[in-house]
Amino acid sequence: MTITAKCEECGADIAIPDDAIVGEIVQCKECSSEFEVSSIAKGKVELKPAEVAEEDWGE
Ligand SMILES: [Zn+2]
Repeated sequence: MTITAKCEECGADIAIPDDAIVGEIVQCKECSSEFEVSSIAKGKVELKPAEVAEEDWGE
């Protein structure tokens, strides 16, 4: 079974492995945004934006 979560950037579905753990980094395949799993419960995952250290987004 695969859990899906919504990308906060582009609204695409992100597939979360059902053995994902809190703190795991997942990436949106549509816009390449990275998110950290902030909580995971039966069939439902919450994501928060991952801290990106390497890239400068210009702000
Ligand atoms: Zn996205």
